[in-house]
Amino acid sequence: MSASSDSLSPPREPSNAKGAVVGARTLSTRPKNTATKKRVDYKARAISWRVRIALMIVIAVAGVVVWITNKSLTHSFTETTRNRAELRLALYSGNLVSELRQHAIVPQLLARDQALILALQSQDFSLSTQRLISFVEEIGAASIALMDKDGRTVAATDRIELGSNHGNAPYFVDAIRSNTTVFSIIEREVGGYQFTYSRRLVDSSGTLGVILIEVDLHKFERAWAGISDAVMVTDSEGTVVLATEARWRRLSEEEALKHQTPVGAIQRAIRVTTDWSAVPADAYLRGEAVMRLESRVPFQGWRIMSYTTYASIREKVNAVIALEIMGFALLLALVFYALSRKTALRMALFQRESAELRVLNARLQREIAERERVQQTLAVAEQSLAQSSKLAALGEMSAAVSHELNQPLAAMKTYLAGARLLLNRNRPEEALSSFGRIDDLIGRMGAITRQLKSYARKGGDEFAPVNIGDALASSLAMMEPQLRQRHVKITRMLPEDTVLVMADRMRLEQVMVNLLRNALDATKSVHDPELEILVSAGESVTVTVRDNGDGIKDFDNLFEPFYTTKQPGDGVGLGLAISSGIVNDLGGRLTARNGEEGGAVFEIQLPTLIDETTIDETQAAE
Ligand code: ADP
Repeated sequence: MSASSDSLSPPREPSNAKGAVVGARTLSTRPKNTATKKRVDYKARAISWRVRIALMIVIAVAGVVVWITNKSLTHSFTETTRNRAELRLALYSGNLVSELRQHAIVPQLLARDQALILALQSQDFSLSTQRLISFVEEIGAASIALMDKDGRTVAATDRIELGSNHGNAPYFVDAIRSNTTVFSIIEREVGGYQFTYSRRLVDSSGTLGVILIEVDLHKFERAWAGISDAVMVTDSEGTVVLATEARWRRLSEEEALKHQTPVGAIQRAIRVTTDWSAVPADAYLRGEAVMRLESRVPFQGWRIMSYTTYASIREKVNAVIALEIMGFALLLALVFYALSRKTALRMALFQRESAELRVLNARLQREIAERERVQQTLAVAEQSLAQSSKLAALGEMSAAVSHELNQPLAAMKTYLAGARLLLNRNRPEEALSSFGRIDDLIGRMGAITRQLKSYARKGGDEFAPVNIGDALASSLAMMEPQLRQRHVKITRMLPEDTVLVMADRMRLEQVMVNLLRNALDATKSVHDPELEILVSAGESVTVTVRDNGDGIKDFDNLFEPFYTTKQPGDGVGLGLAISSGIVNDLGGRLTARNGEEGGAVFEIQLPTLIDETTIDETQAAE
C-alpha cells in the first residue's frame, strides 16, 4: 500500500540480477566450449586408434590371403605345368620313335630293290641316283646314298656325295659285317649328329654294296625349340645327341647344365624364375631352379629330358596376386575415402558449432555491454531524477512553508497593531489577550518548523526498546488540548502483557500523534465522533487507528508529500509522508484502508521485540 516506498524503489536490482545471469551464462560458455572440444579430441583420438587397428588388420589379412593364394596357386599351376610337360615329353618321345621306326624298314626294302642290285652288278649307275631321289621324296628321309662294296658312293640324293669314299666309316663297315640293318650315329663336323640306317645289298656272288638312309631328327629340335621348354635327348651312353640348345650336343647332361651358357628358352626361363617358388625345384641351371622331367625313349637306351621354367607359373600366379592386391588396395582406398569423408563431415560440424558458439558469445557480450551501458544511463537518470525531485520537493515545500508561515505572520502583525492600539487607549487586559493569541501563533509556527525538521532528519541512530502502551499514552496526552475542545469517544484495546518494539520513541509517537490528529480531523463533521485504538501482538505488533469519519478518498496520493484535502492552515500534507518514512525506517509498514462500516483504518505494523536481556538492561538503565 505504501505508494512512496514503491515509487522510490529503483529498478536496479532486477536489471543487475539479469546482468549477473547473462554474465554467468557468458562465462560458462567458454569452459563448456573447451570441454566439448576436449571431448571431441578424445573421441577423435579413440577413433583414429580404432581406425589404425582396423587398417592393420586389413593389411595383415591381405598379406595372409596373398601368401595363401601364392602357395596354393603355385602348387596347382606347377602340377598342371608338370602334367602338360609330361604329356609333351611322351608326345616328343613317340614322334621320335615313330620317325626312327618308319625309316628303319627302308634299308631292308631298298636292299631288295632289283634295279639297284642290277646297277651294282652291272656297275651302271646312270639311273640309280634318279631312283634314289624318287624314293627319298616318298619316304621323307634326309638323304639316301648307295655305296659299292669298296665304300665308294655310286648314287646319292645329295649329288655332292657322289664319288666320295666311306670305306672306313662305321656305318659302312658295320653294315658289311652284319646281315641286318645297322643304326649309326655319326658326328658331323658342323650341325650336330647324323642318324643313319645302313644295310648291305647282296646277291648270289656275295656283297654288292651298302644302302645308307639318313633320318632327319633335327627337325624335331627345331619344332621343340618353338615351345618354352628346353629338351635334350641322350643316347645309351648319356651323350646329348639332340637338344633344343645346339651347344649341349656332344656333352653329358651334367656338363651341359653346368658349363654351357644357356641360351634361348632356358636363358629366358632363368631370368624370370625366382627362388621363392613354393615347389622344390627338380634341377638347377646355373644355380636357378627349373622343373626337370625325364622319360625313356624305347629306342636303344635313349632318354629324353625336358626343362620347364617356372616363368609361366609365376606369371599366372603373379597375375592373380596382382588382382588380389589391387582389390585390397581398392578396398583400402574406399575405406580411406569413407573415413576422410566422415572426418571432413565431423570437422565441418565442429566448425559450424564453434562458429555458432562464437557468434552466440559475441552476441551475449554485446548484450552485456548494452545492459551495462543502460544501467549506467539509468543510474545517471536516477541521480538526476532524485536531484530534480528533491528540487521540486524543495520548491513545493518552500511554497507551502511560506504559505503556512505567512498566515500566522500576517495574523501576528494584525494582533500586534491591535495590541498597540489597546495599550495606547490604556486597555492593557485586552492587549494581553492579543499577546496570548500571538503566542499561540508562534506555537503553531514552531509546530510547522518542527515537522519539517523531523522530515529532514534521518532516524535510526537512537533505537531503543519502546513499550507500545507507554508510547500510545504519551501520544494521547500530547493530543489532550485538541481532545478537550471536542467530545470524542476514544476506545483503547491493549493486550495485558507489555508489548515492546525496537524504535526511536519520539518518532514513533510522532506517527501516532499524526494518525490521531488525522482521525480527529476526519471526524470533525460527524455527529458522534469515535476513535478506536487497537494494539495486537504476535510475530509483529499492529497498532490500528480507526475512526468513523468520511473515509479516504484518494489512495493513490495518500502518502505523497503535500497531499492534503484540508484547508490552508489546517494541514500541509506532510504528516502521512513523514509517518510512512518513519515506520519504514523502523522496519515496519504503514497501511491505510477504509473500514467496512465506513471511516478510515490506519495500521502501523512493526516487528516484535522479544529479547529479554535487552529489556532488562534498558529497564535497569532507566
Ligand atoms: P495533513 O493532515 O496535513 O493534510 P496528512 O499527510 O496527515 O497531511 O494527510 C493527508 C491527507 O490524507 C489528508 O488531507 C486527508 O485528506 C487524508 N487523510 C488522512 N487521514 C485521514 C483519515 N483518518 N480519514 C480520512 N482522510 C484522511
